[in-house]
Amino acid sequence: MTFVCLTLFPEMIMGGLCHSVIKRAAERGAIDIRCVNIRDFAGNRHNTVDDYPYGGGAGMLIRAQPVYDAYQHARTMLATNARVVYMTPQGRLFNQAEARALATEPELVLLCGHYEGIDERVIEEIVTDEISIGDYVLSGGELAAMVVIDAVARLVPGVINEASRQDESFSGGLLEYPQYTRPAQCLGRCVPSVLLSGHHGNVEDWREAQKRERTRLRRPDLQEGRKP
Ligand code: SAM
Repeated sequence: MTFVCLTLFPEMIMGGLCHSVIKRAAERGAIDIRCVNIRDFAGNRHNTVDDYPYGGGAGMLIRAQPVYDAYQHARTMLATNARVVYMTPQGRLFNQAEARALATEPELVLLCGHYEGIDERVIEEIVTDEISIGDYVLSGGELAAMVVIDAVARLVPGVINEASRQDESFSGGLLEYPQYTRPAQCLGRCVPSVLLSGHHGNVEDWREAQKRERTRLRRPDLQEGRKP
């Protein structure tokens, strides 16, 4: 799967995602993460991409033309008419179901805003989806794009072990069970004895019960709606 980010801070995205699972997946070719720097399309001597908002008000906006030109450049890197996701606090809330849906796409363009946002006209022109990673306001869309890329990429076949995804939180509408590693006793606490019993059936039953109890206590909304 190919991700192309339109951003003013490509080094932030590439630096943030060049680690661990995502880095290895990119090295294996399971995913490809690229950035197009909107500033490269500023179209003026000082490379400025922002301007004052019509009607007044605080802050600056990214101009439409550099974003549109950056997008046209991104299109030359893509084989399909990829969805264009604008990262914005005004978008629909990102969750595991959304990550699963996006992971079926072969390519995705992620548009990262900055300052007070982006001139609405280019959003109307190129954006197919608007996604928020939570009800708070970030300084820029880069962290949000990184969250989306990480969550989506690990659902792309070949990125992580299929088995390790199955029990994960949200995979079946429940949170995951608690887990322990060696030693069996640590910080004055013991591993639950059922996990040391070697009885697979009992371990499975215990884990299933833990999933339900955790979800009931921590996220009752998940069980009620069987949301992702
Ligand atoms: N003025 C905008 C508003 O009130 O809706 C907020 C602009 S914010 C300071 C700058 C950029 O950060 C946005 O254009 C967007 O790309 C990104 N951003 C901020 N919060 C976000 C969130 N919760 N989810 C996704 N992107 C976000």
